[in-house]
Amino acid sequence: MNHDLRRALLYVRRACLLKCPECGTRPIFLPILRIRRLRDYFTPLDGCPRCGYAYERETGYFLLAIWAINYGFGSILGIAIYCYLEFNYHLSLPMLLVGVITPVVLFNFFFARHSKALFLALDHYFDPHTKDGSGGGGGSGKTNPPTSPVPAAPVDAPTPVEPALHV
Ligand SMILES: [Zn+2]
Repeated sequence: MNHDLRRALLYVRRACLLKCPECGTRPIFLPILRIRRLRDYFTPLDGCPRCGYAYERETGYFLLAIWAINYGFGSILGIAIYCYLEFNYHLSLPMLLVGVITPVVLFNFFFARHSKALFLALDHYFDPHTKDGSGGGGGSGKTNPPTSPVPAAPVDAPTPVEPALHV
């Protein structure tokens, strides 16, 4: 098997188990029994206590995980349920809405952690950040191009005159 494919499958397997993408031993989230608030359920830990892998590189890091992965899979599920119910049971519109929306909302709630873990796995696969500072830490590891120097004032522009002090 190709090395890259094997590495990708390893990261996906770790994400499905909600484990650190780097070492695969420590959890990304608090265990269910230690959750005290709803926010604890959705919020990843700061980083892996074993290998130090930072789970949230920057503010809003998991936005794409929710919008693309969680809502994406939820939408596919909703369409599949809709087609199944519509073509097999011919339900009324209110029953159809309840039949589609309820499982999709539940799915999005319980899949939110896995969405973030899968996003971490994807990001770690395509843009691994290491402890030596190359890559990661909020960026792609690439440096910004040098900025152009500040443009000089036009030659014929009047120079500002400091007001004379009269004592
Ligand atoms: Zn780790």
